[in-house]
Amino acid sequence: MLYLIALGSNMRHPRLGQPRAILDAAIEALTQNGLDVLVQSPTIASRPLGPSQRNFANGAAVVETQLSPPQLLDVLQSIEREFGRPAPQKRIGQRWRARMLDLDIVLWSGGMWQSPHLTIPHTDMAQRNFVLGPAASIAGDWRDPVSGLTLRQLNARL
Ligand code: ATP
Ligand code: MG
Ligand code: MG
Repeated sequence: MLYLIALGSNMRHPRLGQPRAILDAAIEALTQNGLDVLVQSPTIASRPLGPSQRNFANGAAVVETQLSPPQLLDVLQSIEREFGRPAPQKRIGQRWRARMLDLDIVLWSGGMWQSPHLTIPHTDMAQRNFVLGPAASIAGDWRDPVSGLTLRQLNARL
């Protein structure tokens, strides 16, 4: 299966430094966790959403894996923790705070997925230029099953 993953960071890592170095290390961590990274987008800088102050580095990657969506989410969350982000259940009410690393599943070659802890396509993807910009640059023809539009078309609408 193919997945489109969105990466984001807006903190300095004690060892890695700048957010964009954190994204590069996160891509390496995806590989080390057995995911096949087929394409990586250029990293962009974006303004923060919500209460945090520092700018973000954002990027996207297409990965291939046999893992199911919930299995992949587990792997992504373990990588987030490896990079010093507390597990989701330990940060209730902390959504959109500064974070060392955010790894979201944007699209999946299987179409839609809906369960209590996982929604694919990612619910806010069509409103976010920091997701669509990098995503459209590497997978512009990938069609969002909700709107029927390609990433390139969605990105052009913003
Ligand atoms: P946003 O989802 O608005 O980008 P966020 O990425 O900061 O916010 P997190 O704190 O990383 O939110 O994750 C909160 C919860 O979102 C996770 O525990 C996960 O169960 C859930 N979630 C639902 N759909 C997805 C998805 N497509 N990708 C990643 N996490 C998801
Ligand atoms: Mg997110
Ligand atoms: Mg997330």
